[in-house]
Amino acid sequence: MQVPQQVLLEHQDVLAHCRRCPRMQSTPVIGNPVVSRVLLVGQAPGPKEPALGRPFAWTAGKMMFKWFASIGLDEEQVRGRVYMAAVCRCFPGKRPTGGDRVPDPDEVANCASWLDAEFAINEPTLVIPVGKLAIQQFMPVDKLDAVVGKLHRGTRNGVSFDLAPLPHPSGASTWQYTEPGKTLLRQALALIAAHPAWKCVKAEGTGRKGKTKDAK
Ligand code: SF4
Repeated sequence: MQVPQQVLLEHQDVLAHCRRCPRMQSTPVIGNPVVSRVLLVGQAPGPKEPALGRPFAWTAGKMMFKWFASIGLDEEQVRGRVYMAAVCRCFPGKRPTGGDRVPDPDEVANCASWLDAEFAINEPTLVIPVGKLAIQQFMPVDKLDAVVGKLHRGTRNGVSFDLAPLPHPSGASTWQYTEPGKTLLRQALALIAAHPAWKCVKAEGTGRKGKTKDAK
């Protein structure tokens, strides 16, 4: 029987060649092959990530990694110990009115099987969806105020987990800089910091990939 690390490597190899969505403007951007009980779900890469070859590689990422550093893991540690997935793995392109295009429902549906597989491989106990589109893959969201700052329960592809939603860290949104967003973001990060799966990845040695699967 294959170990999860090997299954994940093979999964990523197939994912890298995915071309299901003709309107997407890049090839897939894929996180490190880290088998982890903590799974982060972003929305879709921006224009810089495809060339840089890693998710959250530009300004939004800088902000997000600052949040995680405040609860004990710097960028390198997060990339080495948390599995970084996304709703869509390719850059959707720009909107005619400016800003990045939000992936269309057919593109989200096309990409869902990759995420399903990653839930089966990682069996996460803590899932961190970042931004409204990512949160909506697990629960209905009208306003961020109603979901950020609380721990929810979620299920995907037969795997049950705690869900700690975060706002999107892009500079396009001011939600996290004004109340109640400021306080709710602080509460959300405190919930993540106190979660057993986060504590486990925090306790892990630098760069030891594939070890966090033991964190129940
Ligand atoms: S967005 Fe997802 S499903 Fe669509 S081409 Fe990229 S990897 Fe494939």
